[in-house]
Amino acid sequence: MYDVVIVGGGIIGGSIAFDLAERNLRVALLDRQGLMREASWAAAGMLSPAPDCPGAIPLVPLGRASLALYPKFVDAVEDASGLCAGFRAGGALEVICHGDAERELSTLVALYHGLGLACEPMRVEEARSMEPALGREARAAALLPEECWIEPRALTSAVLAAAASAGAVLCPGVEVTSLALDGKKCSGVKTSRGEIFHAAQVVLAAGCWSSQIPGAAPNAPTLPVRGQMAALRHSGTPIRHVLRSERGYLVPRGEENPQTVVVGSTIENAGYEKRVTSGGIEKILSAANELVPELAKAEIIETWCGLRPGTPDQLPILGPAEIDGLVIATGHYRNGILLAPVTAKLIGEWIAEKITSLDWETFSPLRFTKTNENRSITT
Ligand SMILES: Cc1cc2nc3c(=O)[nH]c(=O)nc-3n(C[C@H](O)[C@H](O)[C@H](O)COP(=O)(O)OP(=O)(O)OC[C@H]3O[C@@H](n4cnc5c(N)ncnc54)[C@H](O)[C@@H]3O)c2cc1C
Repeated sequence: MYDVVIVGGGIIGGSIAFDLAERNLRVALLDRQGLMREASWAAAGMLSPAPDCPGAIPLVPLGRASLALYPKFVDAVEDASGLCAGFRAGGALEVICHGDAERELSTLVALYHGLGLACEPMRVEEARSMEPALGREARAAALLPEECWIEPRALTSAVLAAAASAGAVLCPGVEVTSLALDGKKCSGVKTSRGEIFHAAQVVLAAGCWSSQIPGAAPNAPTLPVRGQMAALRHSGTPIRHVLRSERGYLVPRGEENPQTVVVGSTIENAGYEKRVTSGGIEKILSAANELVPELAKAEIIETWCGLRPGTPDQLPILGPAEIDGLVIATGHYRNGILLAPVTAKLIGEWIAEKITSLDWETFSPLRFTKTNENRSITT
């Protein structure tokens, strides 16, 4: 019997396992394959609370809270695991290459300032003095000085090791097929091998597959959104910041020469098909080469893709479900690496104390079923 069983060993499940084990709860973390092999392994690692579309604006306060927690989170993970998570502070440059650049820049700056995000507009020459490799297509730029980035594969290994050293039991190769119900209460999970893991609380953190656990879909209607990525070995002018344009982004990994630069990403509805395509890679490379033309000479050292856990309203799903004993922590879409610390903190507080230090009502799993009820009343 565990206090908590967590379904899904990605960055979200792993970070929650670490938090709960640190609170001296008995925790098991189950994953149907090796741990951290899905979206969390595939991510670029930008820690950016800036909204990428109007629908993401309600997420900004949560993203800012999580970014503020990051340095302490990384210290705790690195202390407990003895591993380096590859955290870097230094800011991102948002670069505008198309359209009416001056107007787009002032809209962006007004939006970010209105959301409390630090954002410094700059002339292209200034941006180029910070990033000499920036291409000629750049027409305007803004520095987002508070943004950071991390190496997701290093982070995920460190989080798992930290959770294990805090006492969580890690169970790779265990597929959850359904919830175990005791009357109307969730009392654990059933696995494909016919075992039952009994627990006082179950946390569903199975990424885009969360909706496939029978009974969970009404409160966790996740769907996969594919993203393709490439890593380049670059021997030219080193890149020192995250660079983003309307078409894609670059994330430097270290500063040694040759430097590894990760470039991304597509946003595709391709079901659960994890496949790198020539069209997808062409798209991200052309965006990268526009930002930094020198990258056209870089060697492609790896390509991959991952399935982001999307949701119908593009917001995460956090909190208690309609089924007593079931807590949902999924739907982090493009921001799961950024949101891991705050998700772990909120779920940990809820499970241990039944209160949370931040208002998380907007992200409640009940919003999907409530909306349905309202719809059926009004139509
Ligand atoms: C290309 C790409 C780039 C990204 N870049 C960024 C970025 O720069 N910054 C950022 O913040 N976020 C980024 N993201 C988003 C981020 O990666 C995700 O939001 C985050 O990893 C989701 O973590 P998770 O733990 O919920 O899901 P996952 O990492 O997908 O983990 C879910 C786990 O559940 C397991 N599972 C599924 N079903 C079952 C079952 N029935 N039984 C047991 N286990 C099960 C799976 O095997 C998997 O290990 C990116 C994502 C992609 C794909």
